[in-house]
Amino acid sequence: RAKMSADSLAALVRTIPDFPKPGIQFRDITTLLADAAGLAELVERMAAAARPLDPAFIAGIEARGFILGAALAHALGVGFVPVRKKGKLPGKTVGIDYVLEYGTDRLELHEGQIPDGARVVLVDDLIATGGTALAAAQLIREQGATVLMALFAIDLPDLGGMAALEADGVASAAIIA
Ligand code: AMP
Repeated sequence: RAKMSADSLAALVRTIPDFPKPGIQFRDITTLLADAAGLAELVERMAAAARPLDPAFIAGIEARGFILGAALAHALGVGFVPVRKKGKLPGKTVGIDYVLEYGTDRLELHEGQIPDGARVVLVDDLIATGGTALAAAQLIREQGATVLMALFAIDLPDLGGMAALEADGVASAAIIA
């Protein structure tokens, strides 16, 4: 039931140059989120991609993956699990360290929140190099779960993130390329 074209949806995303540092073209989805029809269209398109895979959980990556992941989980009638940056979750965690351009970072899950054998769709707002999504997918796999798909609102194809996911055996899709 697409009511809005892909181009109209893409036009709701704003590009802010040189944020958070010089040379980065930041794709700001807050303008899309604030548009009722745009938000509904994006979540519906994500639901159409994820529903046939029959996931039991949506895992969303901090922070914008929480917004879209929770909306998607609600649309599909499944649970939502947050994948957080280091030190934010209050309970016992499992985590994975991953390499950034400068230094390393860590993603964490609450221990036991993604059960062994669970079918999971991973969500974030945007994939660039794929480093974040690859680390999240690996952490979920380490729980004995299956990452059915990594699903993004936006792909920056020049940065090769979806190709890197594919090379690691993680299927992926993006609504706006
Ligand atoms: P990467 O690990 O390189 O695929 O980067 C993806 C993560 O960084 C996601 O959580 C995005 O929200 C964020 N990100 C990277 N590049 C951008 C960008 N140009 N605009 C907005 N968010 C970005």
